[in-house]
Amino acid sequence: MPTDPVLLIHGGAWAIPDDMVEAHLNGVRNAAAAGWNVLGRGGSALDAVEEAVVVMEDDETFDAGRGSFLNRDGKVQLDALIMDGATLRAGGVGCVEHLRNPVRAARKILSDSPHVYFVAEGAERFASDHGIPLCKNEDLIIPREVARLREYQEHQSEEKPNLFAPAISHDTVGAVALDVNGNIAAATSTGGTLNKAPGRLGDSSLIGCGCYADNKTAAASTTGWGEPIMKLVLAKWAADRVAAGNLPEWAAAEAIHYLQSRVSGHGGIILLDARGRFGIAHNTPRMAWAIKARGHEDSGISRPPAL
Ligand code: ASP
Repeated sequence: MPTDPVLLIHGGAWAIPDDMVEAHLNGVRNAAAAGWNVLGRGGSALDAVEEAVVVMEDDETFDAGRGSFLNRDGKVQLDALIMDGATLRAGGVGCVEHLRNPVRAARKILSDSPHVYFVAEGAERFASDHGIPLCKNEDLIIPREVARLREYQEHQSEEKPNLFAPAISHDTVGAVALDVNGNIAAATSTGGTLNKAPGRLGDSSLIGCGCYADNKTAAASTTGWGEPIMKLVLAKWAADRVAAGNLPEWAAAEAIHYLQSRVSGHGGIILLDARGRFGIAHNTPRMAWAIKARGHEDSGISRPPAL
């Protein structure tokens, strides 16, 4: 019996300013269209989340791919993970500086490598050996981010802004999908946090933290302050609640509640099980999201859709 496909997208959870709402909505809708293009034709959840994330990596609105936050050295350093719920195969890259679409490299690792995770030069060498062209780090840097880093570093000695407050941008992108064969998958991609120390990895590309998928539990992608999310292994935490018999809607809300109550974290999560039941939750003022299913299409920047 074929399953009805479902696709959920997020484009970061933070206090998205009014003048950036349209760009975020367009971004998540374009990603949903790209992912649906795969799912609607009977393609796999894995291909769908990859294609959806590529669209957002290419969109300078988001903190992923070109246009990402700069690290302390003024470089873009990217992390991404993709995971297949049918096989539990996963591919991740961390601290890559010369890949336009780190999720493509992550997918190659999932498909073509016995390993799960590559970092830095090794990840780039793997990508290049598998036909993914490398780019210059400068190709990933845009003037908006040069100005943002300069502004931050100039005021560093003054009272420091809390980089992890809900008002600070968390523009990581992610997607979860269910395909006609009943398989689920997840992908997450990020440039990390502004002014991060070189070599710092956040939650996004770590299995079970920023991304997870298992047909027997759920597919999840998180965004927000990475360090607290890592400490709670939040994506897996939420998926396990679904395995225990809870609705994804409840598990997503509970995960964000746990994030806040246990480690004062801020962020958001999208969660989808193999029956097509889903949850969207965040404790930041806004989170860009989009959903697509047969005969149903919705997107927003605050309230999750009514279930
Ligand atoms: N979670 C990401 C990180 O800490 C940031 C984000 O979600 O925007 O690297």
